[in-house]
Amino acid sequence: MKFYIRTYGCQMNERDSEAAASALIASGHEMVHDEKMADILLFNTCSVREHAERKALGKVGILIKLKKKKPDIIIGVLGCMAQRLKEKIIEDIPHVDFVAGTDQFHRLPEIVASIILKRKHVVAVDADSEIIENLSGHIHSDNQISAFVSVMRGCNRFCSYCIVPYVRGREKSRGRKEIIEEAKKLVGSGIREILLLGQNIAAYGLEGRGQATEESPFAELLEELCRIDGLLRIRFASPHPQYFNEKLIDAVATLPKICKNVHLPLQSGSDRILKLMNRHYTAEKYLSIVNDLRSKVPEITFSTDIIIGFPTETEEDFNASRTLMKAADFDNAYIFKYSTRSGTKAAEMKDDVPQPVKDERNQILLADLAEMTERHNKAIVGSTLEVLVEGVSKRNSERWCGRSDSNSVVVFDPVPGIKIGDLVKLKITRATTMTLFGE
Ligand code: SF4
Repeated sequence: MKFYIRTYGCQMNERDSEAAASALIASGHEMVHDEKMADILLFNTCSVREHAERKALGKVGILIKLKKKKPDIIIGVLGCMAQRLKEKIIEDIPHVDFVAGTDQFHRLPEIVASIILKRKHVVAVDADSEIIENLSGHIHSDNQISAFVSVMRGCNRFCSYCIVPYVRGREKSRGRKEIIEEAKKLVGSGIREILLLGQNIAAYGLEGRGQATEESPFAELLEELCRIDGLLRIRFASPHPQYFNEKLIDAVATLPKICKNVHLPLQSGSDRILKLMNRHYTAEKYLSIVNDLRSKVPEITFSTDIIIGFPTETEEDFNASRTLMKAADFDNAYIFKYSTRSGTKAAEMKDDVPQPVKDERNQILLADLAEMTERHNKAIVGSTLEVLVEGVSKRNSERWCGRSDSNSVVVFDPVPGIKIGDLVKLKITRATTMTLFGE
C-alpha cells in the first residue's frame, strides 16, 4: 500500500519518521510524497507545545470527510502526542485507526497489517527497549551527504518546563557497535556528515549512574566514529551542560572531524530561574564550558536555546540572560517565549510575565543576536574556510552552496571538477547576516 508520513517537531521526529518509513518499505509498502495518493496516512506528532498538538489534532480531525469518501484509508497518529494522549485520541477522533507511541515505531508494519486484516482500532503505547536497535533504516536521495543517526532516546532530567521525559520516557542508549555499523553503512552509501541525535546526548551510555560523572562514554563514541574512513564531519545535538565534562570538552577540541560548532542549550542566564527550571547548573558553570572550549579552539562557535518570560522572571533575571548571551558571544540562538505546558512541573506556577513583556524581551534578544551574527560574519570576510559542498543553492540555481565547519552557509560559483560531498577551501569575499559568499 502507498503511505505518506507528515512529521511535526524536532530532528528526532524526522529521524523516527525516516526509520519508520524504511521499515514500512521493507515490508512491501510504498512511500509517496503527496498525501492525496496515500492509502495510509501517518502523523508523527510533537507534544513540546500545546499549540503543536492542537495543530496536529486539527489536521487529523478534518480527515473525517476523506475517511467517508475512502473508508479503507488507514489513519495513524504516532509519536509524542500519541504517547501522551493514548486512547483518548481515538475516543475523540474515531476515524483514527491507530495510535503508536514513541517506543512503538518498529511495530508499524505489524500494526498496519493487523488493521488491514481485522479493521479494529489499535492503541500501542508501551515502553519497549528494542526500538532503538530496530530503527536503523535510512532513506536517502541521490545527492544527500548528511544523515541523522540516533544514539540515545528519552531523558531523565525533568527540566520543569519540559514534557519530553513524560512522552519519550527514560534514557536508553544504543550499543556502540550498532551505531558504528550504521555510520559505516551510511558512509558506504555516500554520506559524508552525520548529525548524532539524542534528547540528552552527552549522557549517552550513563544510564543508571544518576547524575553526571567524570566519565564520558559519549566522548569515547565520538572518538570511535572519527576513525571511520570517508566520514568527514560529525555534529551532535543536544548536550545538557551538566554532562559537558572535561573528557567531552577535550574530545570536541581535539578530534578534527568533530565540527567546531556546539549547540549548548542555556535556557536562562539567571541562577534563580535556572534553579526553578531544575537545570542543575549555574550561569558561571555554563560560561566556564564555553570559555574552556574557546581557549582550546579559538575559532569555535556556539548556538543555544533560551526561554524568556519563565514564571517570575524579573527584569534583573532577563538582564542576566542578556549579559550571559553577550559573554558567550553566540552565533545563533533559538529564543522561545515561555508558554505553559500542562503535565509539567512549571505548569503549577502562574504564567505571570505579561505577553507584551515577553514580546519586548524577545525583540531585545533578537536584536542582540543580529548584532553578534553580523559582527562574526563580517570578521570572517577575507579568511579561508573549509566548506562541505551540498549542491545547487536554493535561492540561485546558478550558484552552489555548502556549509562551513561552524555551520554557516557559504554560497559560491561552481568551477569544473567540484562535486557534491567534496571539501573545498573558499575565500570569503562578502557576508550578510545569514549567508557568506566565497570563491
Ligand atoms: S534535558 Fe532537554 S529533553 Fe531533558 S527534560 Fe531538560 S529540556 Fe527536556
